[in-house]
Amino acid sequence: MKLTVLVDNNTLIDDEISFFGEPALCYYIEDGDKKILFDTGYSDIFLKNAELKGVDLSEVTHVVLSHGHNDHANGLAHLWERFDTSDMTLITHPLAFLPKALPTGDIGAPYTEEEAARHMKLLLSKEPVAITERLIYLGEIPRINDFENKEPLGRIRLAEGWEEDFLPDDSALAYRGKKGLYIITGCSHCGICNITEYARKITGVEKICGIIGGFHLLKEDSRLERTIDYLEENTNCDLYPCHCVSLAAKFAMARRLPVKEVGVGMQFIME
Ligand SMILES: [Zn+2]
Ligand SMILES: [Zn+2]
Repeated sequence: MKLTVLVDNNTLIDDEISFFGEPALCYYIEDGDKKILFDTGYSDIFLKNAELKGVDLSEVTHVVLSHGHNDHANGLAHLWERFDTSDMTLITHPLAFLPKALPTGDIGAPYTEEEAARHMKLLLSKEPVAITERLIYLGEIPRINDFENKEPLGRIRLAEGWEEDFLPDDSALAYRGKKGLYIITGCSHCGICNITEYARKITGVEKICGIIGGFHLLKEDSRLERTIDYLEENTNCDLYPCHCVSLAAKFAMARRLPVKEVGVGMQFIME
């Protein structure tokens, strides 16, 4: 499996190509004959970066949205404009399209479920979905520990009205490699430790070979400390926390864990 970073807050300094960056996330994943776009960033820069990197997005077979926030979902409308997406399958949680807001404004996807269904085949699932033999969309992540996802992030408009948003739609991918498990996350609002434990449970694979994506660690608080404790105990591999991880959190992690840099243009082979 090959993963190419198409959007991240950080871009690599490359002698030949200058990529675009934004506070958002989008990965292009190739596994056998399946080509998966994991999140779509905030704007249309994933299209520009894909072109610069020589990635042909007309070949995408699946789009996975980790959750409905606009820094992950906005770009999808640009994919519809550019390509014929009618054969592509969109996999996400059934609540990902609901309106979401902060006091400062709207932070949900800029389209409805019905609109998305006009452009793509929808596969909405709370349960895990095997995209390939080895790559799994995890669906709704059980919140099993007492230190992650304790505070809401804005509000979500459910059938009953506006409620505090604990991001029930937030999910991730797990890849069952030959030597162990790789985990690929969007924002980890539900908690990187919760995601890791659920990925282990669903795949039956204990050993973690790598984690890349947003870990949602922004403050130096007990969530960060306990996450570091968990990762130290449960992983023995390079970690690639990015997107929604502050520099202070990266420093704290790097004191005890092998933390690596992430930037647009990077490619990872996961076997
Ligand atoms: Zn988010
Ligand atoms: Zn995000």
